[in-house]
Amino acid sequence: MQTQARVSLSDAESAACETAKEAIGWLHTARFLTTAAQMHHLPAYDLPEIAFVGRSNAGKSTSINVLTQQKKLAFASKTPGRTQHINLFALGRQGQSDAVLADLPGYGYAAVPKSDKIRWQQVMANYLITRPNLKGVVLLCDPRHGLTELDDILLDILRPRVEEGLKFLVLLTKADKLNKAEAAKALSIAKLQSSGGIVQLFSALKKQGVAQASQILWDWVHTADDPLHQAAESAILDVDKDDPKDTGDLLPPH
Ligand code: GDP
Repeated sequence: MQTQARVSLSDAESAACETAKEAIGWLHTARFLTTAAQMHHLPAYDLPEIAFVGRSNAGKSTSINVLTQQKKLAFASKTPGRTQHINLFALGRQGQSDAVLADLPGYGYAAVPKSDKIRWQQVMANYLITRPNLKGVVLLCDPRHGLTELDDILLDILRPRVEEGLKFLVLLTKADKLNKAEAAKALSIAKLQSSGGIVQLFSALKKQGVAQASQILWDWVHTADDPLHQAAESAILDVDKDDPKDTGDLLPPH
């Protein structure tokens, strides 16, 4: 009974899933594209890119896996040698990619040497400030810890771009661990701190907020008046022409 209660969705959640079917299906197409240790190693795409960022252990990998309905996708980013990399995944049907998902390494992990932390913060800041096709950022935050100092630094870095139209979503992860009052409090605090971004509760465990988040990401990419969206069609072939070895070594095509 316990397990059933955990996975069953509320009526509101089921209704949201129904409306977000297209968005949910779109995220399911995610497939590994490439990995890069440095910003300048990242391929240049015209496709809109959505970056996932967050403190280490915030639940980023689990959330990406639930959003894409793939058990191991983001754990590709946790394989040795890739933990400090930016990992890119293509979205859209094979041969018709229309967006890129970027999984940025978690920050703030205590066991990482200071020099690595600084190097990584620089790579991330550089990415967030200069990546030309960056369309939106999803910040994963464990609400039991709230937005930490490092999250604040990230918000400061992002603010100018958000003011210029960069989309921004804060997912308060592991919401299943909060009671109603705690959830409401976490939401209002994060809303205050996130300067204009959308904030929502999310639980990978209970599949809470998955449909809503999927719909938001879909809307970011598929807004018709967006120049990146218009450029997407011509860039589709470039992404899909990428080294087939790269796209195939972690995930079988589906
Ligand atoms: P990352 O370092 O940000 O990629 O974090 P992970 O995705 O590896 O998750 C860190 C820990 O939080 C793991 O033990 C996950 O099982 C747990 N976790 C992630 N999402 C949830 C959730 O929605 N609910 C609960 N209860 N635990 C979660």
